[in-house]
Amino acid sequence: MNRLPQSPRVLSLANQKGGVGKTTTAINLGTALAAIGEEVLIIDLDPQGNASTGLGIDRKSRKVSTYDVLIGEAELREALVPTAVPRLTVAPSTLDNLGVELEIASSGDRAYRLRKAIARHVDATEEAGSRDKRFTYVLIDCPPSLNLLTINALSASHSILVPLQCEFFALEGLSQLLSTVEQVKRSLNPELGIHGIVLTMYDGRNNLSAQVVQDVRTNMGDAVYETIIPRNVRVSEAPSYGKPALLYDLKCSGSQAYLKLASEIIQRERRFRAVAA
Ligand code: ADP
Ligand code: MG
Repeated sequence: MNRLPQSPRVLSLANQKGGVGKTTTAINLGTALAAIGEEVLIIDLDPQGNASTGLGIDRKSRKVSTYDVLIGEAELREALVPTAVPRLTVAPSTLDNLGVELEIASSGDRAYRLRKAIARHVDATEEAGSRDKRFTYVLIDCPPSLNLLTINALSASHSILVPLQCEFFALEGLSQLLSTVEQVKRSLNPELGIHGIVLTMYDGRNNLSAQVVQDVRTNMGDAVYETIIPRNVRVSEAPSYGKPALLYDLKCSGSQAYLKLASEIIQRERRFRAVAA
């Protein structure tokens, strides 16, 4: 495999547990990065398509989905749909992705389908006169499973961003996820790193949340972002209006936290690049 392109930076939002905030983080971090000037693509790989729905892309507008890209029937460019947020594009998912594993399991490049599709898109944008968008960040919203879809995401990524919900069993399953990352690093993508762990749905009125934050910081140290995403009803309401929380209510604590997370992520990126150079 060729090296990953330097730009866009490709980050997978992954955790095999459902309901921890992967999709919410993809949508709102993507929006926050776009708001501060990045050109962002969210690739929805979850058959549930929650990131697509939460960004207001109805089923009718998903004529070409990430499924078509993964099975080789379409180029990534054909799947791109603009959103209401300037500089934020989504490649939507549909229930078809439930069947993708069967479709591609027997092909030799089954773990690299997404990586190759992104690379072809990057090459196309570099051609003279190309009108394709040059993304600076790609966020991949993974399904709640360590299946071939997630493996495709990790093979295509510079790093993984792990949302952990502030609940009693927060760390459960993390070691399995991290060992999958190690395996992908050894066999498929040596460049894969851990970008960070983001604590989500923090409830300040609940002692347990504070205890979980302390535990996770003790165990995972600097990998944990300083920014903590609070539990905020505006954040959970926004998707039913087909909007990111940042469009629905910019001032709410959740939106403000995602803006802070975006700037922390950009700072970390600068540090990673300085180390790599
Ligand atoms: P995942 O993609 O990991 O399955 P989601 O992002 O879909 O998780 O979040 C699971 C549920 O929790 C959703 O109903 C979502 O609206 C809600 N949720 C996520 N983050 C927050 C938050 N910060 N405050 C309140 N509700 C949240
Ligand atoms: Mg999700």
